[in-house]
Amino acid sequence: FLKLGATIFWPGLIALPKNTVNPITIGLDYINSLNLRRGRISFHHTAVDAAARDWGSIKRLAPAGVLYPESVDDIVSLVRTTTAARLSSSSSNLTLAAKGRGHSVNGQAQALDGIVIEMSTLALGIRVMPEGDADCPVAFVDAAGGELWIDVLKATLKHGLAPRSWTDYLYLSVGGTLSNAGVSGQTFRHGPQISNVLQLEVVTGKGELIICSPSKQPDLFFAVLGGLGQFGIITRARILLERAPQQVRWIRAMYTDFQSFTRDQEMLISTEKKAAVEDAAGTFDYVEGIVIINNDNPYNGWKSVPFAPQELNSSSMIPKDAGSLLYYIELAKGFDPNNIHAMEQEVEKMLAPLNYIPSLIFTADVSYFQFLNRVHDAELSLSSQGLWETLSHPWINLLVPRSAISDFDEQVFQQLICQDFSGPILVYPLNKHKWDKRASAVFPDEDVFYLVALLRNALPSAGPGVSLRSQIDDNSKILSICHHLGCKQYLPTYNTPEQWEQHFGSDGWENFVRRKQTFDPHAILAPSQNIFQRDD
Ligand code: FAD
Repeated sequence: FLKLGATIFWPGLIALPKNTVNPITIGLDYINSLNLRRGRISFHHTAVDAAARDWGSIKRLAPAGVLYPESVDDIVSLVRTTTAARLSSSSSNLTLAAKGRGHSVNGQAQALDGIVIEMSTLALGIRVMPEGDADCPVAFVDAAGGELWIDVLKATLKHGLAPRSWTDYLYLSVGGTLSNAGVSGQTFRHGPQISNVLQLEVVTGKGELIICSPSKQPDLFFAVLGGLGQFGIITRARILLERAPQQVRWIRAMYTDFQSFTRDQEMLISTEKKAAVEDAAGTFDYVEGIVIINNDNPYNGWKSVPFAPQELNSSSMIPKDAGSLLYYIELAKGFDPNNIHAMEQEVEKMLAPLNYIPSLIFTADVSYFQFLNRVHDAELSLSSQGLWETLSHPWINLLVPRSAISDFDEQVFQQLICQDFSGPILVYPLNKHKWDKRASAVFPDEDVFYLVALLRNALPSAGPGVSLRSQIDDNSKILSICHHLGCKQYLPTYNTPEQWEQHFGSDGWENFVRRKQTFDPHAILAPSQNIFQRDD
């Protein structure tokens, strides 16, 4: 019924001629006859051009048109019409891709010659229920799939509440991160964002509008979470809330050796298990490790570590035996300003067993909002220098089994990126028991595994295209090492059906294919993940 993905574009640079609208695809005549209730479809080249861009700036696959939905019915109508086109004409290749904010790096929210659904216009609002309701007696928020996490945070904080699990950057869409996993420094404690969802409203690839949860239509619910957009379009998500702290003590503690850096992080996240049986005290709320280059670079050298106005004026503060890489663990603990003394005692106790360099620890007290929105400050600064979305971003994200992290250090950090790296490098451990195996997201089968994010920017200084090409080549080398170390890609990109099967593992793959046949049998959704293609 389904043929495995075959249209592979990586690692080439796909650039369509400027202002070109692709030839009309068979099936588009159906779209022209679509009777939308409130939204609209545009075939204008500016709409098409914008939908062919993403954060990676590596691939550009132009759709035929863009839907700006205003109601869930608009999405249902589009999916049903596309299915009808598929069924009536065996040569219709019309596909649909929901687009959150296009923060993917490899065209995952694009649809060549298809229709991109711009989820941001589905303005259903954000509804906070501090006491829950009759069906769901816990605090929750309902948000449309295209809402940004920053707006979810603003709405929930008005009630003194907030979701428990976050991404580092909040200008990402709810539907986009839930289609992957959504990870950050809180994940060791609360699981990824997909472990914190109570209910979803989904339009399947068959055009059915279904409300699902762990107890109601659970197969669809878990398929969609981490499902790479393959099974349905998330139109609304219900997210669990907790009481939000007012302030956060934010700490950066520096290390010169990788072993102490990882050992301490593992110790810090192991307290979560003890906290579950004893008392929440004794656990930081957030743990994230960062690798930096031992140079002056303000973006990923040691000068980026201290919080302003704590200046690190002299490299003499860095121990003489330090190598070309330095490390720091970023920690956070929420507190009530009326109870600062208790927080300080607790933090002191939690820091005591750690092996950071005692003179190189930096702290700041900030509001919870400021802490969660921290990457936005960097965005504003980089944007003003033309170093944010104008660049290509050949990022790779990996989940590395704990047993392989030392080898990863030796073979990747020490060999390939110890001299220079134009962007952040994150290395932090996660607890497997916080991930739900029923969801589609894939992770290594070890109790602890690391998120390793290699977030390079292709800087113009290296010459047009040169730096991007060499970075993509470097990434291929890293991915090949990772393959041998048993890592999984997070936000995965694979080129062949065999690689996808290997990614999911044979049981996982069988389940993924079965779910595709159940929920999107005509392979209409998210075509640029390159997993499935229609077999006529
Ligand atoms: P898009 O890129 O638009 O879409 C991603 C995929 O999901 C596509 O296949 C799309 O078709 C599908 N999709 C989108 N919306 C829906 C929907 N409503 N229903 C069904 N499918 C849908 N990730 C983390 O986990 N942690 C981080 O800390 C983190 N930080 C980031 C920082 C920056 C600066 C950037 C650019 C990205 C970061 N990411 C992080 C990655 C991010 O989670 C992914 O890019 C993710 O895809 C969300 O982006 P988006 O909302 O723009 O989705």
